[in-house]
Amino acid sequence: MDNHNDAGTELLNKVRHCTLCAEVLPLAPKPILQWHPAARILIAGQAPGRKAHDAGVPFADASGERLRQWLGLTAEQFYNPQLVAILPMGFCFPGTGKSGDLPPRPECAATWRQALLQPLKNLQLTIVIGQYAQAYHLPAAQSSVTHTVASWQDYWPDIIPLPHPSPRNNIWLKRNPWFTEQLLPKLQARVKQVLLRKME
Ligand code: SF4
Repeated sequence: MDNHNDAGTELLNKVRHCTLCAEVLPLAPKPILQWHPAARILIAGQAPGRKAHDAGVPFADASGERLRQWLGLTAEQFYNPQLVAILPMGFCFPGTGKSGDLPPRPECAATWRQALLQPLKNLQLTIVIGQYAQAYHLPAAQSSVTHTVASWQDYWPDIIPLPHPSPRNNIWLKRNPWFTEQLLPKLQARVKQVLLRKME
């Protein structure tokens, strides 16, 4: 980051040292995010899973492999913070419940999200993954993930809602073939357009 982004570096350091939810998290706080004020694409996800927590890297799991495939991005592009910001709704692993990971800690978005979103002046595309990110980034949608994703043309071209890329959603993908056949090619073309666009 250049000197005009010193404030960004300071903010990122503050987030990385956050311990706000220490008493309720199952493991020690370990905020996992990727952020730079120059980012063009924002991935608004849920919360890191256990593998991402252990690796200290967002989407370092099967979900990440599928998400990169959906977006048509190489790992190098995906992990370039000047291209892609990865801000889950909760930055720390929230623990596991009976049917998968627990919801992201609500304190997280309330404390950090606006401050991190505000400097992203080059943002051209926001990928909204799953119900918690939908509730924040598409509050007017007020419907199921499936309905919101099926209505993707309502948000085009600045926001694209997606289901979670987890292998747990394989049945959803089978039940909704339009997602793979219609939305994914459009999504990949849109990402490519953002990558190719020269920044002023
Ligand atoms: S989940 Fe967010 S608010 Fe809670 S400790 Fe981690 S970084 Fe802080």
